[in-house]
Amino acid sequence: PEDRIIDGERRPEDADAALRPKRLSDFVGQRQAKDNLSVFVEAAARRGQAMDHVLFHGPPGLGKTTLAHIVANELGVNFRATSGPVITKAGDLAALLTNLEEKDVLFIDEIHRLTPAVEEVLYPAMEDFELDLLIGEGPSARSVKIDLPRFTLIGATTRSGLLSKPLLDRFGIPVRLDFYDEKELTQIVTRGAGKLGAEMAEEGAREIARRSRGTPRVAGRLLRRVCDVALVEDASIIDRNVSDRALTRLEVDTLGLDVLDRRYLRLIAEHFGGGPVGVETIAASLAEARDAVEDVIEPFLLQQGLIQRTPRGRLLAPRAWAHLGLQAPKSAGQ
Ligand code: ADP
Repeated sequence: PEDRIIDGERRPEDADAALRPKRLSDFVGQRQAKDNLSVFVEAAARRGQAMDHVLFHGPPGLGKTTLAHIVANELGVNFRATSGPVITKAGDLAALLTNLEEKDVLFIDEIHRLTPAVEEVLYPAMEDFELDLLIGEGPSARSVKIDLPRFTLIGATTRSGLLSKPLLDRFGIPVRLDFYDEKELTQIVTRGAGKLGAEMAEEGAREIARRSRGTPRVAGRLLRRVCDVALVEDASIIDRNVSDRALTRLEVDTLGLDVLDRRYLRLIAEHFGGGPVGVETIAASLAEARDAVEDVIEPFLLQQGLIQRTPRGRLLAPRAWAHLGLQAPKSAGQ
């Protein structure tokens, strides 16, 4: 869904780098992930070895790429980045791997989208730091082994369920990222405003935080739009009113839901009596890709208790009926 202001997907105009924390200590929230990573970073440093491979999983915009940068930074090594869909041939990956230096971090975003042929190259590289290449074709083809530097692979995925078992098993450090709470997002918004040079009141930041879908990338994007409104309105400080007006204008409601979220909920309420209804049917009715529905729309609605996943499909929860201002039918869902 290209035109959403609140989806977590990266967009060119986000300029993520500007708001990106550089050290583990500057990274707000995700306590457990940070605690774990700092132990592994320190252990690797003391041993003078490459850190074990890490897999970040969780919805888009929660800080997977940022943490990968931070890990490389804390380890004091180079950071190389690519993504699953970009590596189309085994040779592409081989070229990346042979160019790494000892202990470097190789970051592969959307790692669940690697092709099986590319995964085959990755296994021995991750396990034995070896490249098995087939040279030539037909009867004269032969396989050669090339030693690779010991490196750290950091994979990121929105859905670890899509990863093949052998790939999953090769990550020593799996790290799950969860949605942020209001307090953490308020802190992120406040810091971001500082970096953008905007005067921000605590309540102004909190209002943006509350409506950011638990997602720092969304918070950053809403912050920029609110700053635009403040500038045009000549507001000297961004208080609750400025934030609220700007977000309402962007059709981001009090729960942080946008037009598409509300269409999703209304669809189930008005056309399927509250469900259960299958995700394929929902995606088709919204004219959205099933992946977008499952990766971008649903995780937050589930986390907010607005919908439930049942074996027979998605079900509208009482909270959603209340939020839409609709009366749940007597028999709804149960
Ligand atoms: P992902 O890789 O999970 O999609 P990113 O790492 O690209 O997410 O983060 C998206 C944006 O949110 C970036 O601008 C990043 O700086 C910001 N961000 C993410 N997590 C945090 C955090 N914990 N503190 C501050 N900013 C964050």
